[in-house]
Amino acid sequence: MSIDQLERTGVNEMTKPFIYDYTLEELEQWAMENGEPKFRAAQIYDWVYVKRVNDFSEMTNLSKGLREKLDAQFQFVTLSEITKFESKDGTVKFLFGLHDDHAIETVIMKHNYGNSVCVTTQVGCRVGCTFCASTLGGLKRNLTAGEIIAQVVRSQQILDERNERVSSIVIMGTGEPFENYDETMKFLRTMIHEKGLNIGQRHITVSTSGIVPNIYKFADEDTQINLAISIHAPNDKLRSKLMPVNRRFPFDDVMESLRYYQGKTGRRITFEYALIGGVNDQPEHAEELAGVLKDMLCHVNLIPVNYVPERKYIRTARKDIFQFQRILADHGVNVTIRREQGHDIAAACGQLRAKHMEKHKE
Ligand code: SAH
Ligand code: SF4
Repeated sequence: MSIDQLERTGVNEMTKPFIYDYTLEELEQWAMENGEPKFRAAQIYDWVYVKRVNDFSEMTNLSKGLREKLDAQFQFVTLSEITKFESKDGTVKFLFGLHDDHAIETVIMKHNYGNSVCVTTQVGCRVGCTFCASTLGGLKRNLTAGEIIAQVVRSQQILDERNERVSSIVIMGTGEPFENYDETMKFLRTMIHEKGLNIGQRHITVSTSGIVPNIYKFADEDTQINLAISIHAPNDKLRSKLMPVNRRFPFDDVMESLRYYQGKTGRRITFEYALIGGVNDQPEHAEELAGVLKDMLCHVNLIPVNYVPERKYIRTARKDIFQFQRILADHGVNVTIRREQGHDIAAACGQLRAKHMEKHKE
């Protein structure tokens, strides 16, 4: 559309809504308000999520008039590729630019069972975990559902070139998804929609630092989507030191909300525990954690802390990581050490963006 035409319609290219922000039901509503039969919405949805075009003009089973109307009223999310890093292990990490020049990270990880995509939900984060690079510049803004969706569609388009699928999604990029709850839920509903990308609910995991009211809300959503909790400490005092969010939502309240979630869904919970040398990695911490988790259907994922230059934390020695794991296992706790993907390309949450911000002083 030319600037001329835009001025006439009064629609500003920058403020046109993103097509990815519309649910199928919302598109049906739009179709009917625009004198089109309801089924047009399903055709549009199919072009967007199944055929995955990036331009309304490619929607060839729609009339030219309708295609022009769509183009005049909506836009696709454009993710400009600022940088791309490919790791030896097949992990690809992207730094994408948004329309307002903010930068976000998306990672595609290759596993033997398929490809998983790690998405970002906010530009920055305000939660302030002391070991995390994502929070260094605070929160700039929330992403819309469409901007989160775009990261998966783009990843799938890349995988389409080699006939592979996004088989799982983890919400473990920058941002606290439960501080952007409604957009995150809208994103999730679009991902699992059978007429869209149709990703299995059990193959999606949302990770939170423990925003308690929204853990209850999520428990009541009636989905099969997995929940992961960044616990990182076995008690209230140490957790508050590492994660200021624990002063807002204390350890015991987090655990209670998780019991509610488990009661409602019957699903296994993942606990993420970043091992930080000399801080939370001692045998007594493992003992205490085992005690807290003993009655829970859960799984502990130990993450050797990724070095963040702005922080002083160091990694736990390998033998001590194994010892921590063994103590948990001896108490009957299901535990693994996270396989580190893309370590050679700074794949830890927020690190690429932090480097980018440093260069450009956002
Ligand atoms: N904001 C959400 C999801 C994103 S982070 C959350 O905090 O759960 C994904 C995981 O990486 C979280 O468990 C987070 O605590 C952890 N993490 C962040 N920085 C890390 C670092 N430097 N080393 C290891 N794990 C880190
Ligand atoms: Fe935010 Fe998660 Fe980083 Fe904490 S670990 S600062 S919640 S992104």
